[in-house]
Amino acid sequence: MRSMRLCANPIHRLIQRSIFKMKAYFQSILEGIQSIRKGMALTWKHAWAARKQRSIQNIQDPDYFNQQAGIVTLQYPQQQMIPPVNGRYQLHNEMDDCIVCDKCVKVCPVDCIEIDPIKATGLVGTTSDGSPIRLYAAKFDIDMSKCCFCGLCTTVCPTECLTMTSEYDFSVFDVKEHNFEFANLSPEQAAEKRALYEQFVAEKEAAKTVASAAATTSEAPEGTTEEKPKPAFKPAFKPVFKPKPKPDAE
Ligand code: SF4
Ligand code: SF4
Repeated sequence: MRSMRLCANPIHRLIQRSIFKMKAYFQSILEGIQSIRKGMALTWKHAWAARKQRSIQNIQDPDYFNQQAGIVTLQYPQQQMIPPVNGRYQLHNEMDDCIVCDKCVKVCPVDCIEIDPIKATGLVGTTSDGSPIRLYAAKFDIDMSKCCFCGLCTTVCPTECLTMTSEYDFSVFDVKEHNFEFANLSPEQAAEKRALYEQFVAEKEAAKTVASAAATTSEAPEGTTEEKPKPAFKPAFKPVFKPKPKPDAE
């Protein structure tokens, strides 16, 4: 913007400022009109080129996107765009490979993954990459209506069972249908597994109590006041430093 040289007279200065503002105002309007004209020219060019085109074009055709004119819109769903291979769309969890480690839940910035883990009493199985599964998932829900498609959950998944698929059209009438459930346990099975683990813990605790009671009894039999043997005395090691020999006086 050119700098304005202002007059020393305050009245002249006021007039100069008003003229400068008016010029800038009309300049902006002119730029806006030019911008609209360019945009509309491009739109009308494509619309004009497409006025005779009524045949359905195959989107799978490798030259589809090389056509410079004649295409205005896609006839979805008859015509569909091929999603890019690195596209991030609907999430899918291959539950047989999920170790229920909770990493995806922790990393999700919008808390749209919910897991209800149940500890197993032993090894449940192994994933296709050989990782041991030690937990069941009573619930593994992903609410895609909250998902921001960042893909972080898929990058932290140690078994790569959580992936973003190429499915991009999952529009529904009720937003609650965007909650996708992946858990492979029925409520009855989950309750059974939970009860099994609780029983396992109770039995372990009982066994521990019995073992500690038995140890106490064997250490101090009834009616005796046997003292524990003291550890043998070990003399402390004290290093002796020899004085350095004095250099001979010459
Ligand atoms: S893609 Fe991002 S927002 Fe969506 S579930 Fe995964 S971590 Fe959460
Ligand atoms: S990060 Fe992967 S393995 Fe761990 S709970 Fe999530 S989906 Fe399962």
